[in-house]
Amino acid sequence: MFHSKGQGSVKKPSEKNIVSSKTKGMCECPKCGYEYPHRVGSPCKRTPCPECGTYMARIN
Ligand SMILES: [Zn+2]
Repeated sequence: MFHSKGQGSVKKPSEKNIVSSKTKGMCECPKCGYEYPHRVGSPCKRTPCPECGTYMARIN
């Protein structure tokens, strides 16, 4: 009895462009210099600095 399990051709997900991080640019606090990678969906200008509360600025 030959019972083959599964399909003969298993499609492997082709390795797409591996993006380590989806960040583009950095946010920097103009006051204290604190910076962190910009996150999509949260504009720097609307994100207060965790250190001093000043709104961040986009750099790069
Ligand atoms: Zn700051």
